[in-house]
Amino acid sequence: MITLNTEIKNLYGVGKTISNRLKRLGINNVKDLLFYFPWRYEDYSSLTPINKLSPGAKVNIVGEVEMVQNKRSPRKRISITEAIVSDGESSIKVIWFNQPFITKNLNSGDKVSLAGKIEGDKFNIIMKSPVYEKITNQNTIHTQGLIPVYHLTANITQKQIRYLIKQSLPAISSFVDWLPKEVLKRQKLINLSEAIKIIHFPKNQKDIKTARRRLAFNELLTLQLKSLVAKNEIAKSRSQAIIFKEKETVNFVNSLPFKLTNAQKKSAWEILLAMEKTKPMSRLLEGDVGSGKTIVALIAMLNVALNKKQAILMAPTEILAMQHYRSISKMLKNKRIKIGLISRNNKIIGSKKEKNSGQKIAYEADIIIGTHAIIQEKIKFRDLGLAIIDEQHRFGVAQRKELTLKSGNKKTTPHLLSMTATPIPRSLGLALYGDLDLSIIDEMPLNRKKIITKIVNAKNRKNAYEFVNQQIKNGRQTFVICPLVDFSDKLGVKSAKEEQERLQKKIFPNLSIGLLHGRLQGKEKDKIMQNFLANKINILVSTSVVEVGVDIPNATIMIIEDAERFGLAQLHQFRGRVGRGKHQSYCLLFTNSTSPNTLKRLNALVNNTNGFKLAQIDLELRGPGEVFGINQSGFPELKIANLLDYELMQKAKAEAEILIKSKKFVESDIIKEKINKNIHLE
Ligand code: ADP
Ligand code: MG
Repeated sequence: MITLNTEIKNLYGVGKTISNRLKRLGINNVKDLLFYFPWRYEDYSSLTPINKLSPGAKVNIVGEVEMVQNKRSPRKRISITEAIVSDGESSIKVIWFNQPFITKNLNSGDKVSLAGKIEGDKFNIIMKSPVYEKITNQNTIHTQGLIPVYHLTANITQKQIRYLIKQSLPAISSFVDWLPKEVLKRQKLINLSEAIKIIHFPKNQKDIKTARRRLAFNELLTLQLKSLVAKNEIAKSRSQAIIFKEKETVNFVNSLPFKLTNAQKKSAWEILLAMEKTKPMSRLLEGDVGSGKTIVALIAMLNVALNKKQAILMAPTEILAMQHYRSISKMLKNKRIKIGLISRNNKIIGSKKEKNSGQKIAYEADIIIGTHAIIQEKIKFRDLGLAIIDEQHRFGVAQRKELTLKSGNKKTTPHLLSMTATPIPRSLGLALYGDLDLSIIDEMPLNRKKIITKIVNAKNRKNAYEFVNQQIKNGRQTFVICPLVDFSDKLGVKSAKEEQERLQKKIFPNLSIGLLHGRLQGKEKDKIMQNFLANKINILVSTSVVEVGVDIPNATIMIIEDAERFGLAQLHQFRGRVGRGKHQSYCLLFTNSTSPNTLKRLNALVNNTNGFKLAQIDLELRGPGEVFGINQSGFPELKIANLLDYELMQKAKAEAEILIKSKKFVESDIIKEKINKNIHLE
């Protein structure tokens, strides 16, 4: 029998290959599969008679196979499967390329359902490579009605995943709905199991809306509950007061090579004031890409160190941690402050490598930079006064507890600061995080030149490369971002490895072209970043590992290959990797797409520099629920909920406030797990 915990490999039709591929999508068991929601639907809800078909239409037809056979095309070495399908009135020719196995599945006399686009002209229509499905006694799931479309990578087909989800549906009956009945009633929500069934196989658009609303409510309610629990915890605990060291702070600020913006000053001041209290600070510092959050964080850390306490700064990637470590070491060079680094692969104190654990660093250093390994390591701090988390919205409840346990001062909890570039307007921020105070940097450093953004099609590629050459001659550097690391059989999608080779061999043989991606070893990554920073690499070909935080002021061109494959917020982040120094910078969006919608989206980037505006446009241009990547909204836990849906958020907030008062609810295992679940890292 299939249950929620049934492993994928035990499903019918799943071998080792498929189960491994699904693992890469984070799908290990039936529950994961059921929570892998479609991002959109193809509408094949009306059945069209064959004699009513016209070219260009996307249709579903049902008929009987009259003939089916494989052929080889004479010139190109591809196989063609041809079939004639008739619905009793008329017939249509159907062809598929390179799928000779179709003749094993389909035989003359079979009833089939086909979904796809009609091509040809008025007199001679043809259906090319439709999705097909043999009609037996079972319901169709691939070709009729609203067909779910999933975000898939790793060589899984839509058909495979639908088939597996269909198989898993019976497990839904054992699903425990964690929302009390009164809440469902009050908010007019459907059952969780019902919602999941519908989200995969809806009958109509209204169905989808109802299911989405329930699932979105779950996500928003979970956020709100987390926030309330955190707030209660804070109310119970105390922190150490960090006294503002005015003279040293002013000296430090004056020693910087630039003047702080007013927004930076204001944010720093808010943080310093909050840390003077024994009520633990829980604050979110929000500022667009490149607005200069790090220096504000550093001012706070400096004050903690001057108070003889410790501060930690955690970055989401090793690359970023190393970068922070180096730049902060440099800025505090003349101070008597010990700086340490703790990541999985690197442990450094001062400038000396530590071989063993991070314990020595945790005890001796005043400012400790690292990855989230800091939380996972078995270390104890001497006296932790402040913890900062970069590129994240908040500390999870579990992280907070862990830090308090490690803090070295049992009676107190550290002050917490998280930093994010995800643009959330203040009012929404307040509704979203009841437990956090907000500081917003809403102003860019003065010396910034506007980044010039251009869409580049295949025809202009050559010119673009000449431009790159020119910039590099002038001493500048270039990033090239590709959607994939490795070669894939997804036709035409660029992989970083191939692109690095191509650029090195065919386009820029005289330049040094580097390659950086997430699968490299930590040390290797760091070496490449160092070489890029030192301008020993002219062009760095990379993947989304450089999406956030990376700071190479000498780089002036950001090229994004297959730009249409990324969401606007992500593209905005990539673009933020350039324009960080005094030189005019450029962002070139390479695309072969001619789809009006895609071009509209990319043009939004050309015409807008404000991250919040872009996030809004992105939501408007996409259908509801269409997402480009898990991190698109900046909230990994929001898969379905729309951040801008204030009304539902307020409702979730109101319910959370009622539910949190019920001991039975809060202390049930399922709720405890939900609330304590750590935010997914890296
Ligand atoms: P982000 O907010 O994206 O984390 P960073 O803190 O990395 O931005 O800052 C981006 C760059 O701008 C860094 O090179 C930093 O030194 C520089 N910077 C920060 N503040 C200012 C300022 N007030 N004037 C000029 N440059 C600044
Ligand atoms: Mg940053």
